Amino acid sequence: MGIKRYHYARDVEEALSLLLAYEGRGALLAGGVDLARGVASEVEGLIDITTAGLDGISAADGALRIGATTTLEGIRNSREARGYLEGFLVEVLGHVATLPLRWMATLGGAVVSAHPWADIPTALIALGAEVAWRNEEREERASVEELYHRPFRAIFRRAVLTEVRLPAWSGAFAFEKVSRNAGDIALINCACGLGVEGGKIAWARVAVGATPYRAVRLATVEELLVGEAPTAELWAEAGRAAQREARVSDDMRASGEWRRAVIPVIVRRALERAGNAVMGDER
Ligand SMILES: Cc1cc2nc3c(=O)[nH]c(=O)nc-3n(C[C@H](O)[C@H](O)[C@H](O)COP(=O)(O)OP(=O)(O)OC[C@H]3O[C@@H](n4cnc5c(N)ncnc54)[C@H](O)[C@@H]3O)c2cc1C
Repeated sequence: MGIKRYHYARDVEEALSLLLAYEGRGALLAGGVDLARGVASEVEGLIDITTAGLDGISAADGALRIGATTTLEGIRNSREARGYLEGFLVEVLGHVATLPLRWMATLGGAVVSAHPWADIPTALIALGAEVAWRNEEREERASVEELYHRPFRAIFRRAVLTEVRLPAWSGAFAFEKVSRNAGDIALINCACGLGVEGGKIAWARVAVGATPYRAVRLATVEELLVGEAPTAELWAEAGRAAQREARVSDDMRASGEWRRAVIPVIVRRALERAGNAVMGDER
């Protein structure tokens, strides 16, 4: 690697000014889990942001704010994350890589690296998570879903992601991942959330990822669920609708045909688990 200098940024301002000064030849480094796999040949300076005061978690009124450099295992071990949606986030992060890597990898790094096969974007999109970042002009915000429709790799060549915000939900979420073994990358994943009022589904969120494309919400499936009574038949019907709507393809890990066959199963399972949890709360 052509790295000549390594900086420890004392705060966001310093991280940003160093990044801008390098004019494309510098890179922010958080956990380094992703960056260690290879840095672009033009990068001369690494800017370590783990000393920039961007870690920490706070909870208020059922919502969570997580600093960008908070490690995945740091989140999993926090009282705030354990209390969020009955531990949904803790469960999702438990599916990511292996314990030693989770102690290094940060939530901000996961948002920016945005691998299509990753689990975290799928969960964040289902949750309606919002991110905040600082560029040379101002602080900006967007939902993770919206961010991925923007040229986000170019944005983060000149910006520091500072925080991830998870909204409060009155309902339950469940996550499903299929991989070759517990520490491996997803062959397919999905995250589903439901709220029930008066015995009918009031809102639904269904996101499928690693198809092998980055996660997207399935609008027709969400529409199909809202207003219906939560039943086993409905979960199966939603699974079939997900199979019709999701865009799948082959990659080195699995065929599109296999993914299409598995989608109805994982969507049905996630909805069933979320439905059981939310009906338990209703009762
Ligand atoms: C072996 C392996 C297995 C994995 N398995 C899974 C898995 O099962 N599920 C899953 O969801 N993910 C998985 N991942 C992805 C993993 O979650 C991410 O690689 C990790 O979270 C990146 O975080 P980091 O802090 O190490 O980022 P870094 O490696 O430090 O940075 C990654 C990129 O993000 C940029 N960046 C980091 N922080 C910021 C910031 N605050 N602002 C702007 N830019 C920033 C860096 O410049 C770099 O471009 C795996 C990765 C590896 C290497």
